[in-house]
Amino acid sequence: MNIQMVDLKGQYHAIKSEIDTAINDVIESSAFINGPAVSQFAKELAAYNKVAYVVPCANGTDALQLAMMALDLVPGDEVIVPSFTYVATAEVIALLGLTPVFVDVNPSDFLVSPTKIKESITPKTKAIVPVHLFGQCADMESIMAIAREHGLYVIEDTAQAIGAVYTFKDGTTKKAGTMGDIGTTSFFPSKNLGCYGDGGAMFTNDEQLATRLKMIANHGQRVKYYHDIIGVNSRLDTVQAAILRVKLPHLDQYSANRNRSAEYYDKALGHYKSIVTPVRVESSTHVFHQYTLKCIGFDREELKAFLQQKSIPSMVYYPVPLHLQKGYAQYGFATGSFPVSEQLADQVLSLPIHTEQTEEELSYIVENVKDFLHTKGLN
Ligand SMILES: *Cc1c(COP(=O)(O)O)cnc(C)c1O
Repeated sequence: MNIQMVDLKGQYHAIKSEIDTAINDVIESSAFINGPAVSQFAKELAAYNKVAYVVPCANGTDALQLAMMALDLVPGDEVIVPSFTYVATAEVIALLGLTPVFVDVNPSDFLVSPTKIKESITPKTKAIVPVHLFGQCADMESIMAIAREHGLYVIEDTAQAIGAVYTFKDGTTKKAGTMGDIGTTSFFPSKNLGCYGDGGAMFTNDEQLATRLKMIANHGQRVKYYHDIIGVNSRLDTVQAAILRVKLPHLDQYSANRNRSAEYYDKALGHYKSIVTPVRVESSTHVFHQYTLKCIGFDREELKAFLQQKSIPSMVYYPVPLHLQKGYAQYGFATGSFPVSEQLADQVLSLPIHTEQTEEELSYIVENVKDFLHTKGLN
């Protein structure tokens, strides 16, 4: 059996003729840069997300950078980010001369803790970047309330949770990335809505912000060769947009497939005390970008090696929390600063989850995880 963390080839083969036609059409038209598929995809994604504006860009890291630039943050401003996330979230903050202020996450659901956000606010705080980690939304009800109270911007990093739905206490629902001032996402191939290279986008309901984001992504110009502000070059390829147009109508089915795999794992592994299966939060649906276990009372590297011997890949997202990364030592956080993130970095292990998983594959993975636990006398 050929078990993979993600099966991009299998997913492609299921929609091959549509994809091939879409790619060929772009090549035939030769509209490689800003061809019609780019704005068509932006409109379709805006409709899907029920958001006023989608501004495409080159990747999810750029999307975060452009968002910070559009909000006029200046060096010295503090931006609050979880310490347990992918580095891109903090990287752009540092690159722009802003100060990343790390905060801890919840031990149960890995999501940024609103209490810790509140405790970290200073007069210099300008923005909060919640990350909808592994596929479900952070506690946006509380985060938006904190942001309103303190006059802070909210940039949602939605790279892992496109399509997740958040329900507020009053019953209104919103898609991940459409609750704050700007939402950012990535179309990296292995993301839930992935293209065949790099891609990204920003979401906003604010017309002025949308205009600024578009200008910044396009060398700071609205009219060609008139550069009103300093921008960058960050575009979504037409070929990638054409691929994404084919894939977007499948996104909800992809999320359903991921949920089906997650439920299989939950059912088979949920009763063990030594491996904690993912906790679902009440206010958000889960699109299972990752299915992440917590390994309790044993070395997860042993489980990883055991599975590898059976040709089952597994991954550690993420082995080092951001505040302990060498590149971020200048911000002065020592070991012990964020105990939950530090413990999670030692305990987490993600099992393969993707849109094409068969019951046979899931069963093989589960039986081997159980085998490991039984061999070790764990329950
Ligand atoms: C993937 C990812 C990004 C960056 O996206 P790229 O397209 O690879 O630049 C940012 N934040 C999170 C949480 C991610 O998972």
